[in-house]
Amino acid sequence: MAPAEAYNPPMPQPSPDGSTFVPFRLALGEAILSGTALVPVGITTLTELLPVLRRLEQSGSEAAIEGLASRGQPISCRQACSACCDHLVPVTLFEAESLSFAIRAMPPPQQHALADRFRSALQQLAASGLNDRIQAEDWIGDTPSARHIVLDYLYQRIPCPFLVDSACSVYELRPFACREYLVVSPPAHCADPAANAVVRVNLPLRLFPILNRIGASVFDDTRGWFPLVLLLAWMEADPHPGDSVSAPGLELFHEILTGLGASAASA
Ligand code: SF4
Repeated sequence: MAPAEAYNPPMPQPSPDGSTFVPFRLALGEAILSGTALVPVGITTLTELLPVLRRLEQSGSEAAIEGLASRGQPISCRQACSACCDHLVPVTLFEAESLSFAIRAMPPPQQHALADRFRSALQQLAASGLNDRIQAEDWIGDTPSARHIVLDYLYQRIPCPFLVDSACSVYELRPFACREYLVVSPPAHCADPAANAVVRVNLPLRLFPILNRIGASVFDDTRGWFPLVLLLAWMEADPHPGDSVSAPGLELFHEILTGLGASAASA
């Protein structure tokens, strides 16, 4: 990955675990998000940088949520709510790798139970006849065709395989597509967006498009994302996309910040 233009790295002060605190300031429209991130100093893959990016995304979302609440528009999403967990969810290649590490580290009974839930989801998907469409078509855009696929999938009511007892079993690692799906409309509306208006929060800081773009530019035989329901099948080839996007952690972090700032400026 090419270093960001005019990058003047802060003087690193490595901690014993090889990370350093980096102050950041990000213009997101009219708002400024500033803080400090604990970033690895050494060569870091984009997958290894994800914990830092998840904390960054959380800071941005919290700021947006506070802003909405102060204007009398509290978000409806709660940790225990799973109203959107039978939606068609895209996962970027780097998040898929991160989830694959977590899955392989699970105790065997948990892995088997998860594999069973994936199998059952794939059986429902095969019976629906949607398998080819969700693989061949680009359904993350805002087009009539994308909206059709998303709704057709939703009406199959295929629960996300990570959903256990109505809660996300990988909450800390859940994809950015899940983190960035916040609504101010009633949760029940998420069950049938065609019949009920779902009012999504337009987050100024979104990591999904950035990771997606990087994945697509590095692996030109992919879109940079794929349907989360196909994760176990994707893992069979044991891919490691992060290995192809590595740099000193500070440089990688700065490059992501630059991309986020550019996205916010063009929004
Ligand atoms: S990964 Fe978690 S939050 Fe995302 S759809 Fe699955 S269960 Fe829901």
